[in-house]
Amino acid sequence: MSEVSNAVSPESQSAFFAGKKVWITGHRGMLGSAMVRSFSNERAELLLTSRQELDLCNQHAVFEWVERNRPELIFHIGAKVGGIHANATLPADFLYDNIMVQTNVINAAHRFGVKRMVFVASNCTYPTKAEQPIKEDALLTGPLDNNIRAYAVSKIAGIEMCRAYRKQYGSDFVAVIPPNLYGPGDNYHPQHSHVVAGILRRTHEAKLAGKSEFVVWGDGTPRREILHVDDLAKAMKTVMASDTKHDLFNVGPGYDHSIAELATMIAKVVGFEGKIVYDTTKPNGTMAKLLDSSRIREIGWQPKVEEMAGLKTSYEDLLRLLESPEAGGRL
Ligand code: GDP
Repeated sequence: MSEVSNAVSPESQSAFFAGKKVWITGHRGMLGSAMVRSFSNERAELLLTSRQELDLCNQHAVFEWVERNRPELIFHIGAKVGGIHANATLPADFLYDNIMVQTNVINAAHRFGVKRMVFVASNCTYPTKAEQPIKEDALLTGPLDNNIRAYAVSKIAGIEMCRAYRKQYGSDFVAVIPPNLYGPGDNYHPQHSHVVAGILRRTHEAKLAGKSEFVVWGDGTPRREILHVDDLAKAMKTVMASDTKHDLFNVGPGYDHSIAELATMIAKVVGFEGKIVYDTTKPNGTMAKLLDSSRIREIGWQPKVEEMAGLKTSYEDLLRLLESPEAGGRL
């Protein structure tokens, strides 16, 4: 099938969003804030709710808010997220928070006639031994990685909930599956961050301390596909504005790197020439999870951010954060 036939042009996308009430949940997080940035030139009316204003775990509060504010479109992004260590140590929190929040938002979207919703899932929803590159129909075909199973199950429940409402009520709810994200707004916590942010911080600290080596978790052989958060924000808008009949889209650049290669790229961005030391007491996790993203390319999306330039935006974000007294929970 030709890519052009189903593609959503930038003009028709802007026309689609013009004048619409768009609720972005989790707008203070890395992806949520990228989403808000991506709307800076649109004429949509953004609805944004902080955790203090609206607790998404509270069903009554969510129903009341949606009934009162009547969003027409929802990007459901608000979720508890974290890297492999956070997932392995806080499984109950990941499962509870995500199931509660997505259940309330998806159900409210149905009850109050939201026209379309895009829900963000994760590449860890796919079986740990899925055939590479992973197509959307590999979901629920095999066992999950133990380290991230609770989080994965919560996101699978979200995807299936979108599908169930679509099947039973004809709701236009779609899920997207990104690979490992990076970019401004990331969390650089030494234990809880994802791989890019974790290695960035450790490499930077090794450089400052004048060390000759930096530590990378696992043995360096697992492979990960990475995506800049601004590219995911654009992909989600493309899906929202398209008249697709698909209920699930992979969103990745289509190639991956070993963790060792990724660490070398990050060290280059930081300007640190030290040696990599592998901490094999930390888990490798799934060995490969390269996504087949041909479906979203058919509706006109492709990544724009070049990796080394993108990693530089992450490093600049970390440097800004380290200088800011209100860095808060991101460090
Ligand atoms: P995953 O893709 O769901 O497994 O999540 P992560 O973003 O946490 O990536 C984990 C992979 O990166 C595993 O293979 C880890 O062994 C490896 N890794 C290497 N160094 C780090 C680090 O500093 N932080 C994290 N989170 N992972 C790391």
